[in-house]
Amino acid sequence: MDNNCIFCKIIAGDIPSYTVYEDDKVKAFLDISQTTPGHTLVIPKVHIPDIYAYDEELAEQVFARIPKIARAIKNSNPSIKGMNIVNNNGELAYQSVFHSHFHLIPRYSEDDTFSINYTDNGESTSSSQLEELQTSIQNAMEDK
Ligand code: 5GP
Ligand code: ZN
Repeated sequence: MDNNCIFCKIIAGDIPSYTVYEDDKVKAFLDISQTTPGHTLVIPKVHIPDIYAYDEELAEQVFARIPKIARAIKNSNPSIKGMNIVNNNGELAYQSVFHSHFHLIPRYSEDDTFSINYTDNGESTSSSQLEELQTSIQNAMEDK
């Protein structure tokens, strides 16, 4: 537990939350911002800051639980037509709470209150650039 971490305080019960699922490894609770109705956060019970800090065991524990939480959200409301699962890492990438978490954001319509913009730079990216990217990522891989 990190005494300065708001999500550790939620896990400890020092800050109340609307919990929708909990076991010994994870807690899932409604995000206070409710970007769309049912917006839920899934967090590991251990304090780790971001995706880079996971080992395989913790990743298995957390990721294995996300589908059933996602299904429960989806099955809770027939108006839910889709779901975005978002994990922000670093301030630049919109992370504001540095206890790793996954946003489950139910989607209701094209013009609901969530959007995400993927710019398509495919046309202006050459195959040599793609090969260079491929090589540099492959070379940086652990246990390669
Ligand atoms: P991030 O921006 O780091 O990806 O997401 C952090 C999320 O935590 C935000 O969506 C924010 O609304 C949510 N949040 C921050 N403080 C609290 C809190 O005290 N309770 C709950 N339920 N959510 C919080
Ligand atoms: Zn924490």
